[in-house]
Amino acid sequence: MKMELRKTFQFEAAHLLPRLPKAHKCRRLHGHSFKVEVVVSGECDPKLGWLMDYADITAAFKPIWEKLDHRHLNEIRGLENPTSEVVALWIWQRLKPKLPLLAEIVVAETCTARAVYRGG
Ligand SMILES: [Zn+2]
Repeated sequence: MKMELRKTFQFEAAHLLPRLPKAHKCRRLHGHSFKVEVVVSGECDPKLGWLMDYADITAAFKPIWEKLDHRHLNEIRGLENPTSEVVALWIWQRLKPKLPLLAEIVVAETCTARAVYRGG
């Protein structure tokens, strides 16, 4: 039985997008309540009846969350241009080695706008 699990996290952070034209509103410093969806996918353990423990997803994501929460994202190495797309890739690169079943990272900076990265 192939299954997919989705676990959602939230962090608060400030950013600005320095490569945009000066008049663009996202060029100014502002904040978001970012939502991150961590998606794992694979074959369920037939005996346990689950793919993996949600707590293991939380444990793998926690050190990454601590680097992001209540931070100015532009000050983090690799996030000098912290679009949602770049943040999704940055999270993927740090999480995939610890979470081999990782299949997708979703980063939402508002309720209606999100970036999805599936590797590659
Ligand atoms: Zn923004």
